[in-house]
Amino acid sequence: MKKIILHACCAPCASYPIELLIKDNYKPVVFFYNPNIFPLSEYEIRRDELKKYCAKIGIDFFEDRYDIKEFYELTKDLKNEPEKGKRCSVCFYLRLKKTAEFAKKMNVNYFTTTLTISPHKNSFQVFEQGRIVSFKTGVDFIEYNFKKQDGFKISRQIAKDNNMYAQKYCGCLYSMRKINE
Ligand code: SF4
Repeated sequence: MKKIILHACCAPCASYPIELLIKDNYKPVVFFYNPNIFPLSEYEIRRDELKKYCAKIGIDFFEDRYDIKEFYELTKDLKNEPEKGKRCSVCFYLRLKKTAEFAKKMNVNYFTTTLTISPHKNSFQVFEQGRIVSFKTGVDFIEYNFKKQDGFKISRQIAKDNNMYAQKYCGCLYSMRKINE
C-alpha cells in the first residue's frame, strides 16, 4: 500500500475518502490543517470529531497549528467574494501547501484532499490549486473528485451512522456570516 497524506476538513467529509483510498490501495494518513475555521470553538469541535473517528478506525491523525492570522491576512481584501470565488482559491492553496510540506517531511510521495467531496465546491478549482502546490513542492497531488459516484451521499450516511457532528457553514467567518443573513 502506498502512503498518502489526506488533507481533511472534518470527520463527515473524511469518512468516504478514507474508505475509497483504502479500496484503491492507499494507506491514508489524515492531516488536519484548517486555519480558515472560525471561531476557535468550531475548529476544536471539527478537529476533535475527526480525531475521534480516526482513532476508531485505526487511521493516523496529525494536526498543524491554527494560524488564523495568516489566513485572515491573506483574505482580507476578499471578504465579499462568493463561495467558489477568489477567496476560496487562496484558502485551498494555503491548506494544500501545508499538506504537501507535511508529506515531504514525512517522506510521503502523495497528497490529496477531502475538499472535493462537497457539492458546494468546484473540484476543478481545488485541482488547480493542488497542481500549483504539486509543481512548487514536487509532491504528487492525486486528483480525487470524491463527490463522484454518490460520494457526498455516502459520506453523510457514514456520518449519521457514527453520530458525527455536522457543521452548518463552510468554515471561515465570511461563510458563517452567510448563514446568519
Ligand atoms: S468559503 Fe470555505 S473554502 Fe471559501 S474561503 Fe471560506 S472557508 Fe475557505
